[in-house]
This record gives sequence, structure tokens and C-alpha cells, in this order.
Amino acid sequence: MSGLFRPHHHVRARPDLPQRVGPDVTAVVVGGGIAGVSAALVLAERGVRVELLEAAPHLGGRLGTWDTRLSDGSEVVVEHGYHGFFRQYYTLRDVLRRIDPELGFLRDVGGYPIASRPSVGWESEDFTALPRTPLLNLVALVLRSPSFKLRELRHVNADEALAMLHYDPARTYAEHDHRSAADLLDSLGFSDRGRAMLFEVFAHSFFNVEQRYSAAEFLAMCHFYFTGNPEGLGMDAPTEDYRTCLWEPFTRLLEKHGATVSTGTRAVALRPDGARGWVVDVEREPARRARHLVVATDVPATRDLVAASPELVAAAPGLARRIAALPGGEPYVVARLFCEGDVDPSRAVFTGVTRERVLDSVTLFHRLEGGSARWAAGHDTGAGPGRRSVVELHSYACPSGATLDELVAAMREELAALWPEAADLRVLDVDAHRYTNAPGFDPGFHLVRPGVLTDARGLRLAGDWVGCDVPSALMERAAVTAVTAANDVLREEGVGPEPMRSIRPRGILAGRR
Ligand SMILES: Cc1cc2nc3c(=O)[nH]c(=O)nc-3n(C[C@H](O)[C@H](O)[C@H](O)COP(=O)(O)OP(=O)(O)OC[C@H]3O[C@@H](n4cnc5c(N)ncnc54)[C@H](O)[C@@H]3O)c2cc1C
Repeated sequence: MSGLFRPHHHVRARPDLPQRVGPDVTAVVVGGGIAGVSAALVLAERGVRVELLEAAPHLGGRLGTWDTRLSDGSEVVVEHGYHGFFRQYYTLRDVLRRIDPELGFLRDVGGYPIASRPSVGWESEDFTALPRTPLLNLVALVLRSPSFKLRELRHVNADEALAMLHYDPARTYAEHDHRSAADLLDSLGFSDRGRAMLFEVFAHSFFNVEQRYSAAEFLAMCHFYFTGNPEGLGMDAPTEDYRTCLWEPFTRLLEKHGATVSTGTRAVALRPDGARGWVVDVEREPARRARHLVVATDVPATRDLVAASPELVAAAPGLARRIAALPGGEPYVVARLFCEGDVDPSRAVFTGVTRERVLDSVTLFHRLEGGSARWAAGHDTGAGPGRRSVVELHSYACPSGATLDELVAAMREELAALWPEAADLRVLDVDAHRYTNAPGFDPGFHLVRPGVLTDARGLRLAGDWVGCDVPSALMERAAVTAVTAANDVLREEGVGPEPMRSIRPRGILAGRR
């Protein structure tokens, strides 16, 4: 990898500083998703006495898992939804290496096609095979993709297109945060097909629709996933359910480092404790006290928690106002279908879907994850092994006003229109949920989005909605903000930081500072 594309060292280790805190340094971390677990682990490794509070009965948040009994009597583990672990998620991967140094629980999911129903007339496209070197990937995309006819490129607005390569965390937000991604895409002038294949699926993947999604955020995502990403578009996914691969090993490791993991424990209010730290009021249990506090809850929960904390609001009114104004993302639906029958063997494990009203992606779990494969293979239906399937449908930004049943029915119809053989699947069981806990990235909100460090002393924020300049999104943003929060605690205690790397912080044409 050339120097230009080597990971950027945002934070370097400081071997000249102590690596462990003194005795009696305490922290409470509220929220046990990727962000909370990452922060708790980094702190516990350095000797901080940490308690991790998670409201749900299990860790994981939006990668949580639960048991379900199917109509055939079998017990299966269902997850919150398919997740792609991209290769430029350096911080997340460094956290995951603590439970598996080789990351052997991840496997390459192979191609990642974008498809539309045959009547639209567009063949499906797979961008994962593009070269990994930034700029070369862009050139190859334009030359290879049927969505780009060279003669149509004359109509593309070059200034807008170059904004992707000029990405700069300060300037891009100053110039583009006031407008929507839809406005940017309109003025880019791509063909309808180029826009649908490249951008619409992409915007939805962040649980946002173009009209309500900041153009600056969209450009930041283009930089993070494509134009500035030297690892390519390929992604990996766990070979077993997230409880087995992630949450059980993380719990064991946290406990080994002396941390307390308290699930089923809901924080209900946060109170400054004079100069000594924080008090966290907990539902039906004694309050917890600690010197340091990391709040790693999702957007709706953070809004509720702060609104129920009048002493925090009085101590940090600016922070409270910004949190009260936090936008939420679109509602989304995840439906796992346990089916008799299977789709064509040539179908990819993960397919992004464009131009459907509801359906945004399809994942074939029985070809990806152990438990689903065992369920599909282990039942004698008379149809023979391999004749069952576990198909997960996602709608990342689903229409409002419809019931969950209507949305699932619409996704099933759209699947059958996309892949005709799917009409023959006999759905035995459905595990479907509609959620409203994704963060929003509305135009004009960047300057008021809270960052990790707050004006409430000793309170840090972490999560995929928290502002930060390190290129990152989704799970990687959760890990980056968590490590940043932990580093601030370590700094205050006079201890060397946890190193952190990312892709280059600025676009390839943004010049050096
Ligand atoms: C269907 C789906 C698909 C996705 N696909 C991808 C993907 O392919 N790639 C990717 O990078 N990301 C993906 N994501 C996004 C990813 O899941 C999130 O970015 C990430 O999990 C956020 O982690 P977090 O720790 O910030 O928040 P969360 O996971 O939401 O964790 C917050 C935790 O706080 C807990 N909590 C809330 N209130 C309280 C309280 N009062 N007291 C104690 N605990 C509380 C919650 O129960 C929860 O466990 C996907 C998300 C979904 C839903």
C-alpha cells in the first residue's frame, strides 16, 4: 500500500507515559452496544474499575440477539439484522482482535451486487471487484459500469463530482451541510440509472432518505467507503450469531479485566456528584457512583435520559439543548423468514436492492451463518437437505403509515418481483420488527451535533450518532467515539492513550495540511 493510502495514525501510543491508572479510578458506562462495550473494555484493560449498565437483558444493542422457538419446535438465535464488517473499520477491528486476534469469526461474504427487478431492465452490478486504490477505483468504475455511458458523463457537474475527492472534515461541512443529499445528487447530473445504482442504495444504508440527509454527511460517507478507502468495498460477516461470536467473548474478557457487566439494568437519570464525578440513578436498584461517565446510548434513549436528568440540564444547558434537538433516522424493518424451499444457488449472500418502495436488501443467512445453516440442513422435510432457507429482508428507510405486517408483505412481494423463484418459497415462520432507533443526519445539524467531549465535566458521549472528525460511520463510528471517550478518561488520569488509526482524514485532492 503506498504511503498515501496507509492507515493514518490519529492517536499514537505514548510508551513514555504510565499505561495503567492508579487505584480507585472508577467509571460507569451506560449502554452495552458496540460503543459501550468498546469504551468499557479499553478502560478496564488500563485498570479503571468499570461497570457497564445495559437496559436490555443482553449486550449488543443494534447487534443484539435473542432466542426464538419456531413452529417446528426448534430453538434458533435471531439477531437484530445482518451487518457488514468493512475492512477499513480499523478501530472496530482492533477492538474485535481482543476476542479473536486473527478475526477468524469473520468471513468474506463475496460479491455485493446491487440489483433491481428484471422489468426495470438493468442488469445487476457488483462494485466489490473494483481496484482498491482510491482514484483507480473511480476510473475503473466509470469505465466498467454499464450505469455510466461515457457520453452521459458530459452532463455530470464536475465541481460537484470533485467535491467527493476534495473531502475535508471542516470545509465540506461548511460548504455542503446546509443542503440535502438529494439536492447534491440532482445537481451532479448522473443518469437515473447511475444515481439509483450508486447512490440511492448507499443513502438508505445509513437509515436516511436523500431528502433528509445532509449533503456533507453524504460526501463524508463517499470518502469513507469509496473515494478515500484503500481496503476496497468488500465486507466480512460473522460465521455464527453475534451472541456466540461477540457478546459472550466480550463479557468474559470484560470480567477477566475486573469490569462488572450489568444487563437488565436501566439508567434513569444522570446527576453531577459535586467535584467527585457522577451519580447514575438506576431503575429499581441503588444508584451507581463513579468518577467518570461514558454515555453510549442510542439517540432516542439519550434524549430521554437527559430529559429525565434536571441536574445535568442545569449543569450543562447547552449540551442538554443539543441532545434534545438530535434528529432521529427513518424507521426501519428487519424481517427474518424461515422458509421451505430455497432461492437460486447463484444468488449472492448479500444483495442491495434499488428502486423498490420498501425492500433495500436481502441476506441469505443459511449460506452465511452456522445456526441458520444448521436449521436449513437439519430438518427432514422430505424435500432433502438444503431445501430450507433463512432469508432476511431489510427496509432501511421504510414508508410511514403502514403496519409491520403490511411492510413485511410488501417486502415479500418485492422479493418475488426481484427474484421470480422466491415466489415459490413457503414461509414457515417470520421474525419481524420495526425500529425507530437509528440516528438522523439532517441538513444543517452538523454544528450542533454533540461530540465525544462535553461541557459537563467528566461526561463523555459515544455512539454512531456522535460527532467526530475521524472518518467513520455506523459500527466504526461507535468504536471510534468509544475509544476517544476512553482516551479522554486516560488523559485525565495521566495515562497514555489507546492508539487509533483510520483511512486518510481528507480527500485525495484536498491537499495536505
Ligand atoms: C438492521 C441493521 C443493519 C445494520 N447494518 C450495518 C452494517 O452493515 N455495517 C455497519 O457498520 N453498521 C450497520 N448497522 C449500524 C450498527 O448497528 C450501529 O451503527 C451500531 O450498532 C451502533 O452501536 P452503538 O453502541 O452506538 O448503539 P446501540 O447498538 O444502539 O447501543 C446502545 C445501547 O444502549 C442501551 N440503552 C439505551 N438506553 C439505556 C439506558 N437508559 N440504560 C442502559 N442502557 C441503555 C440500548 O439497549 C443499547 O444496547 C446496522 C444497523 C441495523 C439496525
